[in-house]
Amino acid sequence: MKSIRIRTNKRVEIIDITSKVEDILKDTNIDDGIAVIFTKHTTTALAINEYEPGLIQDLENMLEKLVPENAGYLHDRIDNNADSHLRAMLLNSFLVIPIMSKKLGLGTWQRILFLELDGPREREITISVISQNE
Ligand code: ZN
Repeated sequence: MKSIRIRTNKRVEIIDITSKVEDILKDTNIDDGIAVIFTKHTTTALAINEYEPGLIQDLENMLEKLVPENAGYLHDRIDNNADSHLRAMLLNSFLVIPIMSKKLGLGTWQRILFLELDGPREREITISVISQNE
């Protein structure tokens, strides 16, 4: 298992980590299989989608609309980041991506997005690669 460490800079920040995951795949010698990408935190998430600045802003706006900050959450009494946890629970903490011919089997516009929901912080994402021998 390998890991990626990311230092985030804002409270909510969406980062394209596709090239970092591809770099890790280059170090393995797997032709076909799957990569499991997992974020080890309760206030982060992972998604696969297009990394287009307008869409990324739309995503941030949607999260703010669905789970507004400081809306009287019980967890805010002890930690003041309930919105971050709740937003993370609407999303995924892991992704499973096929590996085909030593490369990520992503579609043309698909990128791996890491969502920081309570930054800035130091974050760790693990990558487990499973070979599928044929
Ligand atoms: Zn908390």
